[in-house]
Amino acid sequence: MSAYLSQLNAAQRQAVEHGVRGKDDHLGPPLLVIAGAGSGKTNTLAHRVAHLLVNGADAGRILLLTFSRRAAAEMERRAERIVTTAMGQAVVGRLQWSGTFHAVGARILRMYAHAIGLDPSFSVHDREDSADLINLVRHEQGLSEKDKRFPQKGTCISIYSRAVNSGEPLETVLLRHFPWCAEWQNELRDLFEAYVTAKQNQQVLDYDDLLLYWAELMSVPELASDVRALFDHVLVDEYQDTNALQARILLGLKPDGRGLTVVGDDAQAIYGFRAADVRNILDFPRLFQPAARLVTLEENYRSTEPILAASNAVIGLAAERFTKNLYSSRAGDQKPALVTVADDIGQANYVVESVLRHREEGLRLKDQAVLVRTGHHSAMLEVELARRNVPFVKFGGLKFAEAAHVKDILAILRWAENPADRVAGFRVLQMLDGIGPGVAGKVMDRMTGRDAHDALATYVPPAKARTPWRDLVGLMQVLLARPEWPSEFDTVRQWYEPHMAQRFEDALVRVGDLDQLQLIASTAKSRTHFLTDLTLDPPDATSQEAGKPLKDEDYLILSTIHSAKGQEWKAVYVLNVVDGCIPSDMSTGTSAEIEEERRLLYVAMTRAKDHLSLVVPHRFYVHGQPRNGDRNVFASRSRFIPRGICAAFEETMWPRPARHAAAPASITTATVDLAARMRGAWRKAPASR
Ligand code: ATP
Ligand code: MG
Repeated sequence: MSAYLSQLNAAQRQAVEHGVRGKDDHLGPPLLVIAGAGSGKTNTLAHRVAHLLVNGADAGRILLLTFSRRAAAEMERRAERIVTTAMGQAVVGRLQWSGTFHAVGARILRMYAHAIGLDPSFSVHDREDSADLINLVRHEQGLSEKDKRFPQKGTCISIYSRAVNSGEPLETVLLRHFPWCAEWQNELRDLFEAYVTAKQNQQVLDYDDLLLYWAELMSVPELASDVRALFDHVLVDEYQDTNALQARILLGLKPDGRGLTVVGDDAQAIYGFRAADVRNILDFPRLFQPAARLVTLEENYRSTEPILAASNAVIGLAAERFTKNLYSSRAGDQKPALVTVADDIGQANYVVESVLRHREEGLRLKDQAVLVRTGHHSAMLEVELARRNVPFVKFGGLKFAEAAHVKDILAILRWAENPADRVAGFRVLQMLDGIGPGVAGKVMDRMTGRDAHDALATYVPPAKARTPWRDLVGLMQVLLARPEWPSEFDTVRQWYEPHMAQRFEDALVRVGDLDQLQLIASTAKSRTHFLTDLTLDPPDATSQEAGKPLKDEDYLILSTIHSAKGQEWKAVYVLNVVDGCIPSDMSTGTSAEIEEERRLLYVAMTRAKDHLSLVVPHRFYVHGQPRNGDRNVFASRSRFIPRGICAAFEETMWPRPARHAAAPASITTATVDLAARMRGAWRKAPASR
């Protein structure tokens, strides 16, 4: 047996070897691996890819679908390492198709754009752009003036997105998930129709369209057989978080399931709020005749026994669940800590102290992670980390590509790429002094059906905007001629920097981000690639992935639970384990939503290998209150840890009551205001601190 196979347990090995009968004979029936957290699903998938390659599968004909670019890259690395060890230096070729459903969808759609009436240089809108476009349409339809209670742009796009991804009728979506908007059903229907038309006219696809068009493509027989012919094997990680459209796409790619492998854990389904449907994974075996092979895994290799026991206790209270409890052979004498602190300040102090203590004991900062339900929950901690010079990188929450100045640069390039893109055009035009939404709208109207440069050059702007207008026309002339990439990035930067200096007080700080953006630009093949990559897989954090590597440095990880999916650390701290945070008070509507929050806590806890702390502040900071309001409200321990399962934890108070009567004075209330300011500035945190 090859050495790499002998490192797997029997069930993992079955999954890896499934359908592989020998050299060049590896296209077996469909396979589902379903098992709890840390049981080696991702590891098994990487081994399976390697095993296929060792047995002669063509690396260029394997499609590997994961939930983030980072996860895809990690899996590729693992598979390549295994293959290289197994076959010496033999070159088997690199995987060419791995990434998220959305990124792979964009690539396939560009290949087949002509066949489905799309311009191959279509733009991709991220969620914020989509909300902006629907807002423009909303204004055009007079809906926002008509009634102030009409749903906000963000709500409109969420409703639209849910309807598209779930395939449910609008009426059902409204009743089930947005009952307070149900009275607007007719207006919303009209709005969505106009939104779809606007996207088509502007050759713009939003995230949902990438899946929708791909699924549609797979329903045109001639095109579908073409796409199908690209892949022998399709492997999907975290299948529990896919939606109806993604299931349709997979079935289109592999109608009989041969060569299809999916892995996941129904107890970790946390994307229901984006219309993911756990039924996808539960119903998978029966999609095929004969049914897909089912492999379950039983041993957890990640966490110590006490951590696993506590995690099992939490998920054991779930209303329904398919995967069974795992066992761990990793002994440990330390139960997870359930730590009560006074408030946000106490929480920040506790975490920093514990992180530093662990570092003293030999754990690198990188081996430790702080997980939060929502990005801003770590604001106070970020202040304290900065104060004590503990470097950190934050994942989830606001992303690099969402920062205003980064969006500005992208808007310019996107507008040049596709002059019909109204959201991009609006953003660029309004950067000029003397141009507001009215004028911007007129300019965009002029451009419809005309040569873009001509439409701009012949326009007479308001007097105040004459000089900046001339500069903009000059810039667009250069960009529209598609100069060699990435030289045009410099041109854009030269034009933009004076605008940035005017728009932002902290322009100097932001220049660093432009440097990083330029670095990413220099690695992209073309403007089109650059824009699509950044929209679909924006770097998670400003420093680490966005160019300025912190490779040799040590830093603490701060992450939302959603972004922590699939990962593991030696020590994990979960903040604000109180009702109102987990479950989030945004999600306490239906029992399905509550159950999803319970699974979120399970996902968070099961990231830990050796040390786990759940922090329960007595009071927690409520955002969005008036400046002088009492922003601290009393909180109680999350309902997901009822008294009955507390024995699985070590309950403690911090600081220990005997030594300190009051909360430590190291952070004063003044820092609360600082925390508010920091939230806007955390992006600069990792490198400089
Ligand atoms: P999650 O549900 O969180 O995504 P997972 O099931 O994908 O978890 P992995 O991340 O693949 O689990 O593996 C968890 C840990 O267990 C990793 O550190 C991995 O290297 C280790 N592991 C997996 N299988 C084995 C094995 N057979 N022997 C030793 N260690 C293993
Ligand atoms: Mg995994």
